[in-house]
Amino acid sequence: MLKVEHIGIAVQSLQVSVPLFEKLLNSPCYKKEAVESEQVQTAFFQQGDTKIELLEATSPGSVIARFLEKKGEGMHHIAFEVKDIVAEMERLSAEGFTLLQPVPKRGADNKLVCFLHPKDTSGVLIELCQEMPV
Ligand code: ZN
Repeated sequence: MLKVEHIGIAVQSLQVSVPLFEKLLNSPCYKKEAVESEQVQTAFFQQGDTKIELLEATSPGSVIARFLEKKGEGMHHIAFEVKDIVAEMERLSAEGFTLLQPVPKRGADNKLVCFLHPKDTSGVLIELCQEMPV
């Protein structure tokens, strides 16, 4: 894995949390993007080489809505950038990790992504991401 690409944080309201993180980080949100397939609205901040991704649910049945219901606001996942997501998925699967997607899916921020089940990763949801070829 190349680096921590971003850290995902689940929030109740981007309207509240975006200005809060702008103050906290002293840098503006540079992108907001809806991911329809995940029923989530995202907002990104750049911090050096790493990003912060805020996640707000756009529907009550979505993954983020259920996370907020169970755990409340807070850290949701850590995303590692990888060079070849398919090769990395094969490697991790062979190591016994559970992949939540059989094939990479389209995520926010022009990325192919795949998540690992947190039961195998000390309770932390891990995202693999690879910049989508243009
Ligand atoms: Zn993410």
